[in-house]
Amino acid sequence: MIEHLPPELITSLQNITGFHEERFKEVHRSDELVTSIRINPKKISGEQFDAYAAIPWNPYGYYLPQRPMFTLDPLLHAGAYYVQEAASQFLWEVLRQNYQRSAPVTALDLCAAPGGKSTLLSTYFTNGLVVANEVIKSRAAVLEENITKWGNMNVVVTNNDPQQFQRLEGFFDVMVVDAPCSGSGLFRRDNEALEEWSISNVELCRKRQQRILQDAYTCLKKEGMLIYSTCSYSPAENEEMVDYILQHFNVQPVRIAVDKDWNITETISEAKQGYGYRFFPYAVRSEGFFVAAFLKNDGTVFTDSIKGNVAAATTKETAEINKWISYARPVCFFKIKDTILAMDAAQMQALSAIRSNLYVKKAGVEIGEIKNKGLVPAHALAVSEILNHELPSVEVSKEVALDFLSRQEITLENIKPGWTVIQYNSLPLGWIKVLPARVNNYYPVEWRILMKTK
Ligand code: SAM
Repeated sequence: MIEHLPPELITSLQNITGFHEERFKEVHRSDELVTSIRINPKKISGEQFDAYAAIPWNPYGYYLPQRPMFTLDPLLHAGAYYVQEAASQFLWEVLRQNYQRSAPVTALDLCAAPGGKSTLLSTYFTNGLVVANEVIKSRAAVLEENITKWGNMNVVVTNNDPQQFQRLEGFFDVMVVDAPCSGSGLFRRDNEALEEWSISNVELCRKRQQRILQDAYTCLKKEGMLIYSTCSYSPAENEEMVDYILQHFNVQPVRIAVDKDWNITETISEAKQGYGYRFFPYAVRSEGFFVAAFLKNDGTVFTDSIKGNVAAATTKETAEINKWISYARPVCFFKIKDTILAMDAAQMQALSAIRSNLYVKKAGVEIGEIKNKGLVPAHALAVSEILNHELPSVEVSKEVALDFLSRQEITLENIKPGWTVIQYNSLPLGWIKVLPARVNNYYPVEWRILMKTK
């Protein structure tokens, strides 16, 4: 329950369309916590969520009646869903109004950790490529984990400063800048954001947002779309940033049609009349959020012909790997050191350009390493969309699934020796190797559940 909101924040909002001071204060005083998820259509169907309220602007979004202990749900670790604010899921609607899902779009999520927008983008663009970038190393590791669990092959995770994207001039069709911000939109669930809030921090955030945009802008193609968002209420980080973007870059504002029943507020920036979309928690069942979109008028289109800079897997290796995967489209296998990875063949040229210019933490799906006795499969393969589901597998109870995810020893009876996919609710969680006298647990140590599961 929040009794005292920063008075400077309230003052700054007085002239904003849709702002109601009393309702704003009241919604912060209430203990209401909205919980929503977005399911992964490659892993589960929405049928089992039929009883829950759907998020109207995302076909895969649902409100949960209460907040479960997500860490103790094996389905979360299997990448079956992502816990995401309903408002953030509006990115789907912005894309839907502007791009066919099958369009061969190359999208950049510049400020991507922990991966909410990137997983959404990778689901949305069925023939696209998503570059999920995070500048902070520790957060890039979390991003990599979430992207791996989501399991789509069409993602490259990078760990670069926005400025380094200048090397890929005119490369991206879509650039999402979900900017680091003062975080007032999350006050209800993040006490720290409230304690740390100050006008000077809003100013600092605004400057940082401007710098990020200036640094990375050139990597957006001519006619490409810039989508800017924050989880702040401050006009300085929202409508004033819309004006900043319209003043400093040759772009035009994009208007998004919003159903009036959604109660999303359209705002118009003061100086340049750009559109913005605000989510106030007393109007929309969500935490606070702001989004605006722009189309780039000027600029170039990336044309460098990059020579393949990845080593292809050998014919023998390919024959071995083919037993482990199943995918409807052509796939390329390539090697980084001894690890074999897979990427949709259509994305290999883009991947070469990205690898030549940025620090790539993860590309496509890691398949594993070929040793004397054949493939030692990577965890990523087990939870990916390209796993061959004809491989040996074992379905386990929730208790055993949690033991597996905690990297404890597990015992299973009557299973044939060898690499086996361990599944919960028919969804792969990872690999075990069954030996004559024991079962080895191959769940990644760094991702294991640390809390007590019993
Ligand atoms: N898009 C993410 C999602 O949907 O899950 C949330 C992104 S969060 C609002 C902003 C991110 O920007 C953080 O991960 C933060 O580490 C990163 N960041 C912080 N400073 C940055 C900078 N100077 N340039 C780019 N990104 C930065």
